[in-house]
Amino acid sequence: MALEIRGISKAYGRFPALKNVSLQARDKEFLALLGPSGSGKTTLLRVLAGLEEPDSGEVRFDGEDFLALPVRKRKVGMVFQHYALFRHMTVAQNIAFGLTVRPARERPGKAEIKRRVTELLDLVQLQGLEKRFPSQLSGGQRQRVALARALAIEPRMLLLDEPFGALDAQVRRELRRWLRELHDRAGVTTVFVTHDQEEALDLADRVAILKDGELVQLGAPNAVYEHPATPFVFDFLGQACQLPGIVQGRTLTVADWGTAAPEGAPQGAVQVFFRPDEIAFAPADGAGLAAEVLAVAQRGPDVRIDCRIEGVLMELIGHGPTLPAGVAPGLSVRVKPLRPQVYAT
Ligand code: ADP
Ligand code: MG
Repeated sequence: MALEIRGISKAYGRFPALKNVSLQARDKEFLALLGPSGSGKTTLLRVLAGLEEPDSGEVRFDGEDFLALPVRKRKVGMVFQHYALFRHMTVAQNIAFGLTVRPARERPGKAEIKRRVTELLDLVQLQGLEKRFPSQLSGGQRQRVALARALAIEPRMLLLDEPFGALDAQVRRELRRWLRELHDRAGVTTVFVTHDQEEALDLADRVAILKDGELVQLGAPNAVYEHPATPFVFDFLGQACQLPGIVQGRTLTVADWGTAAPEGAPQGAVQVFFRPDEIAFAPADGAGLAAEVLAVAQRGPDVRIDCRIEGVLMELIGHGPTLPAGVAPGLSVRVKPLRPQVYAT
């Protein structure tokens, strides 16, 4: 493991922002820190950057005691949500900043700096814009400059704090793919903070999910999406439908529907969670949860199917323009969750 975070705690006054957080990132891994606002993501990133001192715990990078290193020696590149470019400097000057402020002994020559800036402009695909000022760039272009500036010092680790948070949805999606390619080509270990689960699941090699200053799950995107460790994670990673059930032996029973209990399910009373689009419909006399269809509406590429199941109103989702056979307002059907997850109550 390149990065090892062990038992980090940090309180602001009496408020614990991080509680005994331990996690690891592999060399050149793209790790997402995902969690709702206030879960401690920025605090953890600031600890890594050396902008915040933890109350306890340890950070090792390539085996070295990272917290003992002064900020400059950590060689981390940082990008924040809010553009932190220098307004009075051109794009080229912004990118070169981290190099030009080095003490004379360590500073590359003018020609070398120019070469590096050109190389970085290529990397972030902003060729020809080096003489512009930040005010003459779009939001997405500014964040690309910020990334080039962070990479100029050849960081060992890239720390990104919601770098696309202020951009509109489409630009965000474009930059997402681009960032992943950039990470792969630059060959750095990246820690990427976001509260957007789709962004984290799409981009990262692994996702660390934080809640109230605690790590609740760490795993590959598919693993955490398909096997959320807690109801919180299930809910946070996507839409959730929820009903009470009972596990007895290897059978899960919800109302009058019985099915195989998921692997490792607790026994007894449970909460059953499923995604509103991971379902199959069956006729009213078939297998599944008895449902009354209340309304059906096309929503962009999906169909929204409002149902009442066991007295609970649920918005189910069908993909594609055609309704599942036998589903229409006023009809009774059966809804079979394809991948129910259960949690002890
Ligand atoms: P996130 O980035 O996940 O939104 P933060 O790490 O910024 O969360 O904050 C975690 C918690 O710590 C929040 O409740 C926040 O209000 C609190 N906090 C963060 N920075 C400070 C500070 N400088 N002083 C006091 N409380 C802070
Ligand atoms: Mg934050």
